[in-house]
Amino acid sequence: MFHDFMARVIAIANQKGGVGKTTTSVNLAACLGVLGQKVLLVDIDPQGNSTSGIGIDKMNNDKTIYNVLINEEPIVNNTVKTDYENLYLLPSNIQLAGAEIELVPAISREYKLKNAIEDIKGDYDFIIIDCPPSLGLLTLNALTAADTVLVPIQCEYYALEGLGQLMNTISLVQKHLNKSLEVEGVLLTMFDARTNLSIQVVDEVKKYFKNKVYSTIIPRNVRLSEAPSHGKPIINYDSKSRGSEVYMDLAKEVLDIE
Ligand code: ADP
Ligand code: MG
Repeated sequence: MFHDFMARVIAIANQKGGVGKTTTSVNLAACLGVLGQKVLLVDIDPQGNSTSGIGIDKMNNDKTIYNVLINEEPIVNNTVKTDYENLYLLPSNIQLAGAEIELVPAISREYKLKNAIEDIKGDYDFIIIDCPPSLGLLTLNALTAADTVLVPIQCEYYALEGLGQLMNTISLVQKHLNKSLEVEGVLLTMFDARTNLSIQVVDEVKKYFKNKVYSTIIPRNVRLSEAPSHGKPIINYDSKSRGSEVYMDLAKEVLDIE
């Protein structure tokens, strides 16, 4: 089938900040690359944390997703090869903050990324989109372009707060913008086995999302928080760390090769 040669497009989304979207985007993308998959990481967050997190200078870079969304330049002209195996990047920078407003009057404003991705869907195995912490037009572009959405949930007290709003947005997108969008899975992040709270959150999230919850749970791991300041995915920063092991497990789970 023709579709077997098309990339699977996964949006990593949760409107809360600090839940592990960027950490998951960078490390899932890098681990899939190590497993032989050709991956394009799309940074659609104006903060550009995925961009700097894999060692691309977001201050001095002409290639950006802004050019794609606002100037309708092709993605190929704005793609950067990273230092890492099979891993390519569509970078972001702070200029993208303006796009949220500049897109408002645009025709088919929710479809800009989807239309741009069509051209390159045959060139990759996976396209991973790191979303900003909001449910605005940038996230809507990601959800409209995606085949599936992966939702990271931090194991903390307010874990489930705001998830209703996110699920509601996902069903609105399914209804109006992208009928075939599916929930790829729910990923528990920053788990701390020493606290009852973490264990309670795992139980609650499993009750709510059932078999949609990945069996891989991401623990708190200092190496994971250090890696971005070195511009490296965890697998390249410290391949022996727990963080590296669990993101490799997640990549295998996504590939269904446990
Ligand atoms: P988001 O993209 O959702 O805002 P990030 O992935 O940037 O979240 O994570 C927020 C912060 O927590 C970052 O400083 C990151 O390095 C750190 N972090 C993320 N996951 C872990 C983890 N499993 N263990 C330790 N620190 C983590
Ligand atoms: Mg982020």
